[in-house]
Amino acid sequence: MNSWAAGFHIASSLSGIQKMKLIGYWIGSLKDDPYLPPQAFVGGMESAEKEQATEYLDRGKVYIRYRGYSWCRFNCGTDDLEMGSSLLTDGEWVWPQGLSHYVRCHDVRLPEDFIEHVKQNQTNDFCTLDVDALLKRPETIESDAEWINWCHENVPASYIKKLERYRIAAKRAYEELREAHFLDLETEVELSTEICRYQGCTNLAMKEKYFCVRCATRWGGRNAGEEAWSQKFSEFLDELKS
Ligand SMILES: [Zn+2]
Ligand SMILES: [Zn+2]
Repeated sequence: MNSWAAGFHIASSLSGIQKMKLIGYWIGSLKDDPYLPPQAFVGGMESAEKEQATEYLDRGKVYIRYRGYSWCRFNCGTDDLEMGSSLLTDGEWVWPQGLSHYVRCHDVRLPEDFIEHVKQNQTNDFCTLDVDALLKRPETIESDAEWINWCHENVPASYIKKLERYRIAAKRAYEELREAHFLDLETEVELSTEICRYQGCTNLAMKEKYFCVRCATRWGGRNAGEEAWSQKFSEFLDELKS
């Protein structure tokens, strides 16, 4: 267990609240994302277990509905509509509507604790579950700490290496695009004879402005080079396919 997760466990047990456990979250970006790709967890569940688990997952009661749809990280061609836009729950665990797709179609396995829970509760129906009451609880009631832990304890090292490599490449591509964007701007704008007022900056300010091109883009506006992150993320998912 890493120290961050350990700290979280202590904090939540001190508060005495049984948090609902989030599972089935997958990586959505190479930037600041604690989740991992489902490709790293393929195999390891027996077909009877899989059947039981997917049936259980599909019976979950809608917990939260989002506007946007999820999408399959395997890019298998399944319609996003099918991946759903909701989180489902049985009152104790919370999962994305599309989680059963990963188990059923891509043989992705789930944490042993959850499988055990499914075995013990497979006849439960959640129709009587009062989701509104759950949502009205004043404190934050879901935690993904155990899920993140399980993923990090079970991921093959090769996936972490690949991920790191792509993260570094994405950051570099982002910085290069950004630099190119600044150079473009700098040839376009007229410069004043004053130094930029941003603390420590020695560039010339733009004409009739207080700041240089680079410092002015620190605030607001389109974040130049941002598309590099999604480009590298697609390349990462493509490499996991092969
Ligand atoms: Zn798929
Ligand atoms: Zn500046």
